[in-house]
Amino acid sequence: MRPDAVHGEMCRPEAISPRLVSTAGLESNVDGNFNLTDNFDFSLHNPKAKTILVAGGAGFVGSHLCERLVRTGHHVIALDNLLTGRRSNLAELQHNPQFRFIEADIVDPLQFDGPIDEIYNLACAASPDLYQADPIHTFRTCVVGSLNLLDLAKQKGARILLASTSEVYGDPEISPQPESYRGNVNTVGPRACYDEGKRSAETLFWEFGAHQGVETRIARIFNTYGPRMSPDDGRVVSNFVVQALTGADITLYGDGKQTRSFGYVDDLVEGLIRLMASDVTEPVNLGNPGEFTIIELAEIVLAKTGSRSRMIFGPLPKDDPKQRKPDITRARMCLDWLPKIALSEGLDLTIEHFRRELGMHRVPVAEVA
Ligand code: UDP
Repeated sequence: MRPDAVHGEMCRPEAISPRLVSTAGLESNVDGNFNLTDNFDFSLHNPKAKTILVAGGAGFVGSHLCERLVRTGHHVIALDNLLTGRRSNLAELQHNPQFRFIEADIVDPLQFDGPIDEIYNLACAASPDLYQADPIHTFRTCVVGSLNLLDLAKQKGARILLASTSEVYGDPEISPQPESYRGNVNTVGPRACYDEGKRSAETLFWEFGAHQGVETRIARIFNTYGPRMSPDDGRVVSNFVVQALTGADITLYGDGKQTRSFGYVDDLVEGLIRLMASDVTEPVNLGNPGEFTIIELAEIVLAKTGSRSRMIFGPLPKDDPKQRKPDITRARMCLDWLPKIALSEGLDLTIEHFRRELGMHRVPVAEVA
């Protein structure tokens, strides 16, 4: 066991040919290695600025993280294969001299010239529909992709954070779930490519920390929602909001009594940044402990949108967890982190985002009802 491990309450706060998209925008592609120091404008140099690689940077969470890091003054390289990430998520950053985008897949070997101080590994489809669409690529992303990024972190002396998941708890037999709970995962079910992929990635991060001298951090992220979720990613919040806004049926799977805890994306980004800055090497749950049944979520969305959509019930997907609720004691104690945005407020912001995304003008509820 490594000496700096945190236990229980004992908390001490070959070459890829990456397609480089230059600062000029998200247009030009260049094959081969590239030198990040040459490409960044260090005339803006701030001695505290770091060079930070965000794998999965064009995704829902990744793009919010990139924006926050750039705003803080860092140089940020977003890397994404655009399988589920979207260029439009990075629109606000595309002309920022502190920002670069590279279209590449972390399952390919990675090689960069120039320094990298920190790496966030957020690269993987996270919606069950999407990660199950190509399960072997999902598993490869979790395992081979993590290995490639860990090798890069070792080479650069960079600290690296894994976006792991509450899925490591599978269909949990206890609630809430503390980090010490070892989970109840089916190794051969439809969710295994993601659940077991992330569990394997945690093992890799832990061993690189213990035996390769790499500074690793592991975040276990619970259901997250907010602006920039894709309207068609199949997740419950995006499905229900889009269905409610368009008047389509609200699709409940099973009896709708299964529970989830929904965390707003800004709270998650704050937690990730605090975890990266901390000395906590054990996994840390990041989520909002407020627990809702899926029917309750549907009712809230219907009320907020003033929609007349009706609820319909369909089959529960295999291995769909019955409950999920984070124990966030470790994050509170070690990172001084607590989620600030309640589901009601976060849903208002998310509904507004989807209205814009769907090209709908805001209509007062009274006019709709
Ligand atoms: N769900 C649902 N209707 C939908 C999408 C999802 O009832 O249109 C349910 C799903 O079966 C699960 C929960 O909502 O119990 C959360 O699903 P999601 O895909 O968002 O993420 P998960 O937590 O299962 O990874």
